[in-house]
Amino acid sequence: MSELKLEGSCLCGSVAYEIKADTTNQKPKFFHCHCQRCRKATGTGHASLIIVFDASLEWKKGGDNFNYYKVPEASRFATCFCKKCGGALPRYDAENRRAVVPAGSLDHEPDIKPEARIFWDSRAEWSCENDLPAFAEYPE
Ligand SMILES: [Zn+2]
Ligand SMILES: [Zn+2]
Repeated sequence: MSELKLEGSCLCGSVAYEIKADTTNQKPKFFHCHCQRCRKATGTGHASLIIVFDASLEWKKGGDNFNYYKVPEASRFATCFCKKCGGALPRYDAENRRAVVPAGSLDHEPDIKPEARIFWDSRAEWSCENDLPAFAEYPE
């Protein structure tokens, strides 16, 4: 079994988490997502998200100190953020054991690197770009 461990916290430090995932069957994905929802949620040109499968999440600190917001018309788009500082936190789908981790909330360098830009067709013109592959929406 190969395991990935991700540890992070919010801006004010009142919420901290640890995610562990068994990456044997499904590799984690690391995307810069340029969709409009990610822009609105982060206030930046793209969100940098690590999607982890077969994952468990443990709130190390402040487990009742965050809010969760799901966009009503979205099938799954949601954000999770500290009640005090608004800092981005992972959202966790316990049923599917799937975690979406805002890379900027990590307290260490993760073992994986961004692999693509997604929702490229929705990007803001001023958004940054480089030589990563870009997908109109989700990669196939
Ligand atoms: Zn905070
Ligand atoms: Zn997005």
